[in-house]
Amino acid sequence: MNKRDSQMILSCLLTDGFVVSDGIEDADVVLFNTCSVREHAQNRAIEYAKDVISKKPGAVVGLVGCSVQLLREEVFEKIPGLSFACGPDDTGLMGNIIQRVINGEKNILEVGRNYPDNTSISVNSKVSAFVNIAKGCENFCSYCVVPYARGKLKNRPVQEIVREIKDLTNKGVKEVTLLGQNVSAYKYQECDFTELLKIINKETDIKRIRFLTSHPRDVDEKLLKTIAELPNVCEHIHLPLQSGSDRILTLMNRGYTREYYLKLIEKCKSIIPQCSITTDIIVGFPSEKDTDFKDTISVLKQIRFDGAFVYKYSTRKGTSAYNLSDDVSINDKKSRHRVALDLVSSIAKYNLRKLIGTEQEVLVEKIVKKSIDANIWAKGHTRKNRNIVFPVDRFTPLDSLPYPTRFIPGQIFNVLVKDVHNCTLVGYCL
Ligand code: SAH
Ligand code: SF4
Repeated sequence: MNKRDSQMILSCLLTDGFVVSDGIEDADVVLFNTCSVREHAQNRAIEYAKDVISKKPGAVVGLVGCSVQLLREEVFEKIPGLSFACGPDDTGLMGNIIQRVINGEKNILEVGRNYPDNTSISVNSKVSAFVNIAKGCENFCSYCVVPYARGKLKNRPVQEIVREIKDLTNKGVKEVTLLGQNVSAYKYQECDFTELLKIINKETDIKRIRFLTSHPRDVDEKLLKTIAELPNVCEHIHLPLQSGSDRILTLMNRGYTREYYLKLIEKCKSIIPQCSITTDIIVGFPSEKDTDFKDTISVLKQIRFDGAFVYKYSTRKGTSAYNLSDDVSINDKKSRHRVALDLVSSIAKYNLRKLIGTEQEVLVEKIVKKSIDANIWAKGHTRKNRNIVFPVDRFTPLDSLPYPTRFIPGQIFNVLVKDVHNCTLVGYCL
């Protein structure tokens, strides 16, 4: 979601006539888009901003994103010399705010205006784009600051989503990722998430549809069957587990049990046999004992996820878990994090190697030159979102572009997987 927000800001500023600088040294305006989910990331953004202010006295420096929504006026105390701060729902005002700074206004704070943003952004990649279907969240998982930072759940009208996807397809985009904190809870009038997928599949020419994130409590058989049936919906689901311990799941207010989650994954694997499943894990939640952590490890071993983000619990002011004692020592958090991460990455690598010898449908994002052998390679990702490279033409030097037209980014090829290098598949175009 932050990436999408950054793209939106860039898109608005480009429309307003700004240009992207070659580096921070040449920039007249420097913006920091923040994430408030973990304290560490928020503090890092604040430190970066302070550093830039001290090194570039004349520059306009702005803090953007959900940390601003939480900190509000406090940002100007935390970051002396900051030119302005702008919440995640107000970024459509960016060009105007920068102009106000240039005109001499100080300490501008814009939060909660819900200023309409630019839709239809594909600034980063011509091939793949993010499309917001909902903003905010009302689940109130006890550890999570998102409901406070991004506000109440707001579902976007179906036709607006369809219009944006049609617009993106006209611009050459082949893949969209539907974004929301909990897309599986999408509801606009009579249309739920399953219906939305069907409508997008029917009414647009988009080649691939992805979505992020789903809450295990809201994923049902109807949705899984729809993912299996619709040819354009990719077989990948990100289903955050958070913990394998029922006691911790209850304290987290996740609304499901370990048993429920395991059954859901079983259903998912039987309805969509080739489905790639990834997850999020938090270690070191208040009162988490070794036995609770072992429960998480046993789920990781049982499900064998294709990937997982593992986070150390971070206390966030305003959340209900903030009132619990953060009693897992930093050493225990670190060691559990290491153990879980090692397990997750060894399983993920094993799962990747199992793909050797299989044929994968690949959407090409760009053409790259591999320095080792000077060949030209295509870089893309499979339907299950695995990165893959394959040689395009070993005899055409990169300088003699244009590339053979059949390898233009945005094309879809069937590729035979030959090997795995550092979590990237290496293939051969069929
Ligand atoms: N809406 C999504 C993701 C929200 S934030 C969902 O519910 O799955 C992304 C991830 O950050 C969460 O899944 C969780 O694993 C992690 N996270 C959220 N708050 C956290 C906290 N206080 N400390 C550590 N990790 C946290
Ligand atoms: Fe946070 Fe839970 Fe909402 Fe995800 S579902 S954004 S973890 S409150």
